[in-house]
Amino acid sequence: MRILSVALMLCVSLFARAQQLPNIVIIISDDHAYQAISAYDSKLMQTPNIDRIANEGVIFKKAYVTNSICGPSRAAILTGKYSHKNGFKDNETSNFDAGQDSFAKQLQGNGYQTAWIGKYHLGTQPQGFDFWQILPGQGSYYNPDFLMMDGSQQRIEGYVSDITEDIAEDWLDNRDSSKPFCLVIGHKATHRVWLPDTADMGMFDEVTFPLAHNFYDDYQHRKAAQVQDMSIAKTMIMGYDLKMFPDFDHIKDDNVARMNADQKAKFDAYYQPIKADLEARNLSGKALTEWKYQHYMRDYLSTAASLDRNIGRTLDYLDEHDLTDNTIVIYLSDQGFYLGEHGWFDKRFMYEESFRTPMVMRYPGVVKPGTVSDDFVLNVDIGPTMLEAAGVAVPKDMQGESFLPLLTGKNAEGRDALYYHYYENGEHSVSPHFGIKTKRYKLIRFYDMVDEWELYDLQKDPNEMHNLYGKKGDEKITATLKSQLSKLITQYDDRDAKKLLKDE
Ligand code: CA
Repeated sequence: MRILSVALMLCVSLFARAQQLPNIVIIISDDHAYQAISAYDSKLMQTPNIDRIANEGVIFKKAYVTNSICGPSRAAILTGKYSHKNGFKDNETSNFDAGQDSFAKQLQGNGYQTAWIGKYHLGTQPQGFDFWQILPGQGSYYNPDFLMMDGSQQRIEGYVSDITEDIAEDWLDNRDSSKPFCLVIGHKATHRVWLPDTADMGMFDEVTFPLAHNFYDDYQHRKAAQVQDMSIAKTMIMGYDLKMFPDFDHIKDDNVARMNADQKAKFDAYYQPIKADLEARNLSGKALTEWKYQHYMRDYLSTAASLDRNIGRTLDYLDEHDLTDNTIVIYLSDQGFYLGEHGWFDKRFMYEESFRTPMVMRYPGVVKPGTVSDDFVLNVDIGPTMLEAAGVAVPKDMQGESFLPLLTGKNAEGRDALYYHYYENGEHSVSPHFGIKTKRYKLIRFYDMVDEWELYDLQKDPNEMHNLYGKKGDEKITATLKSQLSKLITQYDDRDAKKLLKDE
């Protein structure tokens, strides 16, 4: 009898614990620039649903990534570790070892039901998830294929942002509601080639977007910026990127070729007149570059509109199922993105627009609505933060740190500097580099393709146009930053970077 009652009490207390533990929804988009989110800056478009998360929780004004590119950022989020520790350094040569530890495995091992749905982009099959249904590689905007847990592939008719949300809601409907859950929703938007939902085509046609003031950057004294291949003027492709195909009846591009008849008819009806108009204008030089920029922005922001709408659906679902008060919702992109700054699209560089990422979080009862955070936080902090919220000990080898203490006012001191390391040495021709960012300065060491240091005073030069490295008068700050950089490299045990510094 006594044993029975003890067992009963244990059951009750386990149930109570499960009830108290917060559910977790992590929404990760792809290449979504903070410049395009109205909670950060309302000059380009309105994103009411992402703004809602910020208003009801916290907006991180200084959230950064450890390696600004798709797969490596997801690996960093999942493992809480820098690329040199989790092994996924770049999209071109790395393989992700899904057998390694992750915050999802820790949550799963501590009673959480876990799922990853949508864009995953780590090659190997996910581990640590009770359920997953992921896009193969980059995935497709229209009628996307999904990899299923049984190894099969299934094509689903429709637009990727809607479908990803549909699958997420379906999983929520059918989950084991006696357990807390952790759901990761991976959105494809706003990744290249920025193919809007037919419902959103043309929504920005009446808008002329302002050019970034350094749109015509001449890259003086910055060799890595000189050799990159990610400019709107030279790199952005008229067909593949901007849908100005020579012959609309015979488009071979897979993104379009997979459309059904109705989708293709709407696609033609929108893009064909734009192409005819462009041809009639016969543009060249700066006029053509600026036309490309406007058209790029219209497509890019239209994909963001669907993304934001579907984030709204997630929030509505939580409201309608009485889950809002006990669910952490965090939204972030895998990195930032260039919307014409320096004349670019894409990411990779340690310069602010790609190094920094949008991130907002709602945590009812813990984070005060309307909180604005200026603390340095990183994508590798998400795992440790979620583990702390779930009452799970953070494994010692996770390199990120929970940012909950920074939000709950427990005398926590944030970081005074951030460490970054980008490795990919191929597409878009961005030289590998590592570096340090402090509150005022940024020091970058490019290697392999370009062998050069760069130094910026972000207070005087927030757009990183004036490389001060080697300038008279900056010797002292350079030496201080090099010493801080060396300490971070030791702290994070980045042996490749350490060797490069040693060989100077
Ligand atoms: Ca990305």
